[in-house]
Order: sequence, then C-alpha cells, then structure tokens
Amino acid sequence: MLVDSHCHLDRVDLTPHGGDFAALIAATRAAGVTHLMSIGIDLEHYSAMRALIEPYPEVFCSVGVHPNENEGEDPDVARLLALADDPRVRAIGETGLDYYRGAEDAERQQRRFRTHIAAARACAKPLVIHTRQARADTLQILEQAGAGEVGGVVHCFTEDWETARRALELGFHIGFSGIVTFKNAAELREVARQVPDERLLIETDAPYLAPVPHRGKSNQPAWVAHVAECLAEVRGSTPEAIAALTRDNALRLFDLPG
Ligand SMILES: [Zn+2]
Ligand SMILES: [Zn+2]
Repeated sequence: MLVDSHCHLDRVDLTPHGGDFAALIAATRAAGVTHLMSIGIDLEHYSAMRALIEPYPEVFCSVGVHPNENEGEDPDVARLLALADDPRVRAIGETGLDYYRGAEDAERQQRRFRTHIAAARACAKPLVIHTRQARADTLQILEQAGAGEVGGVVHCFTEDWETARRALELGFHIGFSGIVTFKNAAELREVARQVPDERLLIETDAPYLAPVPHRGKSNQPAWVAHVAECLAEVRGSTPEAIAALTRDNALRLFDLPG
C-alpha cells in the first residue's frame, strides 16, 4: 500500500483511462495507492480541482500558489486561510522559491513564500515546499519565518545533503520523485540513502517527471511504486517496507485517516 504525497490530479493525462477521471482513480487504487495529495499551484484552477476530487475520499489536497505562477491571483493570508478551512485541505502550498525559472522576480517569490508560511502557521497545517536553484534563500526564509512550527515536506527533492540536513533539522520531511530513478541522479540517490526513515516521503508529481521505466511519458500516480522500488534498492530495504514507512509518514504529516 502506497501514498502519492504530491501529484496534480487535475493535470494527469486521462488518455490511458479512456478520458475518464473515475477510471484513473480506479486504476490508481488497483495499483495499491491508498491516499493521494493533489497539490494546488494557482487559485484560478483550484475550485475545479477541488470539485474533481470531491467524490473520492482517499484524495486530499493543498491550497497555494506556485512560485512561478505570475499571471493569476497573488493571495494574502486571509484568502489562503479561507480556502484552507476545508477538511480535505491538508497542507499549504506548493510554495517556495524557483530561481531556475524565475530569478528576475525573486523578491515577489520571497514575499509570497512568507505569506504561505504565515497562513500555514495560522491554520496549523504543514507546508509543501518547492525549491529550485534557491536553496540558501529557501532555508533562510523557512528558518526566519518560523516554518518549523508546522513543518511539512521539501517536495521533489533535488538538492544536496547539506540542504536536506538543514530541512530535517527544521522538522521537515524530504519527498523524492521519479528524478531519483534517473540514470544521472547518483548524487541524489546518495542523499536519499541518508534521510531517516521517519522523514522519508515518495511522490510522483504527476503529470511531470515520470520515473524509470516510464521516463518521458506523462506521469501517472500509480507509478509512485517505481520510486519506492528505487529507494528500496538505494537503502538496502524492500519495496514493501519503503511503501509502508512512507505511507505511515504521509498519514502522520498530512493527518490523513488510516
Ligand atoms: Zn514543485
Ligand atoms: Zn508539483
């Protein structure tokens, strides 16, 4: 039994499921995925995503605006809190800093990041953190803004061990996606080997970043099993044990019903 701790269900390609969202959920269940976190990235598509998951009690979500979303609404704390006041919303994000795709608006990203941290603290929900080419600023803001009070996950982790170590010290979990299965990701696998059992999460980030052996295809939540297999190999464990411990961690972090 697995949990996909980070996917974007409203963007997953339904073609393999005859265009039917219910069939996607059925296939995901059949693959042993018991819970999913569908992550918000903007507010313009949020209510449609929230409505899409409503009939499926194993699907939970987060609310937030991705650091690279430039065109839509830039929410204040009150707006995030109003949306988060919903039993299906179990996290705030994804939020953070991405200087790879948006170094020119670092200041706005930092302000928005702080807004999300303030909202998470106010509603006592964990944070879903996205960081790319911004490790120093990400850690500094997490530390300064008191994000450790609520914790969360640094998702789709691609940074070095020192960054993981500081995030762990703040109480955060480390989420690994299909990237850890890529041939050229030896350094990342070394980081994945060292993360303590109780802070390890797995995710697909579907429809992005499909794991080996599906690399390059549109990612599906069921393929989170390949991330578990890879981590089992790296950590000298079994896929079943990695599935079980990452599932326990996700249920605890996002307060999901067992
Ligand atoms: Zn992300
Ligand atoms: Zn994402």
